[in-house]
Amino acid sequence: MERLFADIILPLALQPLTFEVGEEFYDCVAVGSGVSVPLGKNKIYTGIVCRLHHNTPPYKRIRQISGIVRSEPLASVGQLALWEWMAQYYMCTMGEIMRSALPSLLKPSAQNDDLFSQKVFSLGKEQMLRLGEDVRTEEALSVALEALLPRKKAQYAAMMEFCQKVGEEHIFDGSLPRSAMDASPMVVGKLLEAGLLATFSRERTPHYDTALLRHSATLTDSQQMVLDKISSSFSRYHTTLLHGITSSGKTELYIHLANSILQEGGSVLYLIPELALTEQLIGRLRKAFGDGLTVYHSAMTPRARTEMYIRLSRSEGGEIIVGTRSAILLPLHNLRLIIVDEEHDESFKQQDPAPRFSTRDVAVWMAHNLGCKTLLGSATPSLESFYNAYTGRYGYVWLGERYGEGVLPEVIVSNTIKSAQRGERKGHIGKELHDAIQEALANHQQVILFQNRRGFAPYLECPTCGWSARCPHCGVTLTYYKKGNKLRCNLCGHSIDSPTRCPSCHSGEPLPQGFGTEKIEEVVAEMFPEARVARLDGDVAASAGRMRSVIRSFERGETDILVGTRLITKGFDFSGVGVVGVLNADNLLSRPDFRAEERTFQTLVQIAGRAGRADNKGRTIIQTAQPDNHTIIQAARGDYMAMARSQLRDREAFGYPPFTRLVRLSLRHTSPELVWRGANTLSQRLREVLGRGVTDAHAPAVSHVADNYYMQILVRIERSESPTDTKDIIKECLRVFAKDPIYRNIAVTIDVDPQ
Ligand code: ADP
Ligand code: ZN
Ligand code: ZN
Repeated sequence: MERLFADIILPLALQPLTFEVGEEFYDCVAVGSGVSVPLGKNKIYTGIVCRLHHNTPPYKRIRQISGIVRSEPLASVGQLALWEWMAQYYMCTMGEIMRSALPSLLKPSAQNDDLFSQKVFSLGKEQMLRLGEDVRTEEALSVALEALLPRKKAQYAAMMEFCQKVGEEHIFDGSLPRSAMDASPMVVGKLLEAGLLATFSRERTPHYDTALLRHSATLTDSQQMVLDKISSSFSRYHTTLLHGITSSGKTELYIHLANSILQEGGSVLYLIPELALTEQLIGRLRKAFGDGLTVYHSAMTPRARTEMYIRLSRSEGGEIIVGTRSAILLPLHNLRLIIVDEEHDESFKQQDPAPRFSTRDVAVWMAHNLGCKTLLGSATPSLESFYNAYTGRYGYVWLGERYGEGVLPEVIVSNTIKSAQRGERKGHIGKELHDAIQEALANHQQVILFQNRRGFAPYLECPTCGWSARCPHCGVTLTYYKKGNKLRCNLCGHSIDSPTRCPSCHSGEPLPQGFGTEKIEEVVAEMFPEARVARLDGDVAASAGRMRSVIRSFERGETDILVGTRLITKGFDFSGVGVVGVLNADNLLSRPDFRAEERTFQTLVQIAGRAGRADNKGRTIIQTAQPDNHTIIQAARGDYMAMARSQLRDREAFGYPPFTRLVRLSLRHTSPELVWRGANTLSQRLREVLGRGVTDAHAPAVSHVADNYYMQILVRIERSESPTDTKDIIKECLRVFAKDPIYRNIAVTIDVDPQ
C-alpha cells in the first residue's frame, strides 16, 4: 500500500510540515482535520491538515501524526484557501494565520501525549440522530415510510419531524440532536430499533438563542433607490463601494441588505473598526436582529470564543455576526455578504502580530474567491477603494442626502494666527469658537471639542536652556499630566514625578508646552462654569466602565461639553450636538506620512458629521494656522471629489499607493548601531536585485520604543511588476540576512500594504 502523508499547519511561525499518516487514521483524517503531532523533543502540538498526498518527503526522519484532536474539521476548505492566499500575500506563514484564527483552547500543546489529551477541549457529549444505514436512499426511505403510514402513525409523524428538522437538502447526510425532537423518547426508541434512525454521540453544540427578529425601519425613497442600485451593482461586481455622507442612513441600508440575505438562509458578516465605541451600533443591530445577532470581540473569555467557533463551524447559514477585524477569520458557512462599515478606518489593518492583514482587502478577496458579496461603506472612502471604484474594479453607489430633516453642518474655518494677533485667543479657544459654544449652551445644545493629543501638555520644556523631558526608553517627549503632577510616556507607560527645577541647567523651571485634552477640559470648565464638561480619550478609554459612563451621560444629555481625541470621531450618533470644535487641525496635517492629508480630510469630515444630526442644523468650527491649506478647505466644504482628485494626482506623481504597492521591512534591536548597519546592508542587498524601488534604510518617526531601536526600508512595487516575484525576492534576501552571523539577532517584520 502506498504511504500516506499529510502537510500540517502548526500554530507557529512555520510553513506546513509533512507527517506520515498511520493506517489507523486513514478513515478519519481529511483536509481540515485537527491532529496532534510530535515536534522537537517530545512536544505535542495541534495541527491542521492542509493537504494529503503520497509524495515521500526527501528527509530521513519522517514523523507520524499521533492522534486526532477532534472528530470534526478545525478549518473548512474555504478557510484553508483563504489562509493560503493570506500567507502568500502578506508574506507570513500559514501557522501565524492559524494562530490568530483558532481560539486558544482548540490548539492545545503539551510536553507529552497524556498531558496533551488532558488539554483537549470538549463541550460534553450529546446524542445525535441520523437516518439508519438502510434507508439512506430516496427509494429505501419512501418504501419504509409507506410501510409505517397505515399502522404506526406516531412513528411516521416522528420520521416526518426528523426530515423536516434536518432540512430537505440534508436528509441523507444530516443529523439532529436527539433532544431537538418533539416526538416521545419511546417512539424514537422504536425507530432506532427498526433501523430507520441511527444514533451516535458527539460533542454538544453550544446553545445560543437563535431568535432572529429581522426588524427594520422603512426606507425613504432615496434610500430605497440606493438599495436597488446596490442590488444591481452586486449582480455585476463582487465588491461595491457605498459612498454615503454622514447620517445618510448607511446603517439602515446594511440592516435591510442583511435581512434579505438572512431570509434566504445566507449568513452575513458585519465588520466594524472597533468594538469599544460601538455600543450604540450594537444596540441598533440588536433591535433589528434580536438575540440571533452574534457579537464577536476580543474581550470574550477563551471558552466563549471557542464555543462560538464550534457553533459557527457547525452552522449551515442564516447567521449574522458583527465583529472587529479578526471576525473575518471565523468559520462561516453559506456566507453571502460581508459589510465593511467605515471601510477607511485604520483599525481594519492589523499591525501586530503577523498576519498584518487589511480586513478590507481580505473581504474583497473573499468576495472574488469564495462567492460572497462585499459592501464597503464610508462617508470618506479610502483613496484605494475610491480608485478601485473609479477604475471599474468595484461597483460604486452614492448617497448624498442626510436622513430626514438633517442637513450637513455649516463649517467655519477659524484662523488662529489672526485671532492671536487680534488678542482674542482665550486659552486655545478663539472668539468664533467661544461664541458658538456660548450660543449652543444657551440653546441647550451639546458641544464636542476635538483635540488629538491627550494629557495636559504634550511636553515639558525648560525656558532657560530648552531642555525637554524625554522618555529614557523611547525617543519621544513625555506627556505632562496635571493631575498628580506626573510625566508619562504614551508609548511605554514610563512615569515620573514632574521636576520643579530643570535637571539640565538646574536653574530654570520647566513649563508645560502645547495643549492636550486634559488642559482643554480645564480651560473650558473655567470659561463656561455653568456647563457640565467631560473628557473621552485614550486615558479614559483605558477603563471600559469609565468610557461607557462618559458616553452614556453624553447620550442622555447630562453632559454639555465633551472634550476628546479621535476616539470621538468614530461612529457616534448623538442627536443633540449643535457645535463641533476642532481646536487645532494643524497637528493632524503634520503627520510624517503620505496619507496625512487623506487622513486629515477623513477625520475632519467625520468629526464635522457629529454635528447637526436628525433635526438640528449644526455648526463646525475648525481652528487652524493654515486656513489656506487645500485639505482644510476641501474638508470644510465636504468636497470629497476635490480631495480625491488632488491627492490621487500627488500619489501618482510621487509613486504611492494606489499607483504602486508598498512593502515595509522593520528592523529592531537593542543596539542602535547594529540595527543601523543591518538596515543599510539589507537595503543595499535588496537594491542590487530590485533596483530603485528600494528606499534607503531610515529611522521611522518614532525610532526608539521601550529600549528597542527601529530602522525601516520601504520596497515599492510598480503596478507593472509582479508582486509575487518581488515578494519572493524579498523573502530570499531576508532568508540570507537571517543567517548572517552579524545580523541574525536583528528582528525583522514584514508589513505588506502598510498603513
Ligand atoms: P450613517 O450610517 O450613514 O451615518 P445612520 O444609518 O446612522 O446613517 O442614520 C442616521 C440617523 O438617521 C440614525 O439615527 C438613524 O436611525 C436615522 N435614520 C436613517 N434612515 C432612517 C429611516 N429610513 N427611518 C428612520 N430613521 C432613519
Ligand atoms: Zn534648563
Ligand atoms: Zn517610553
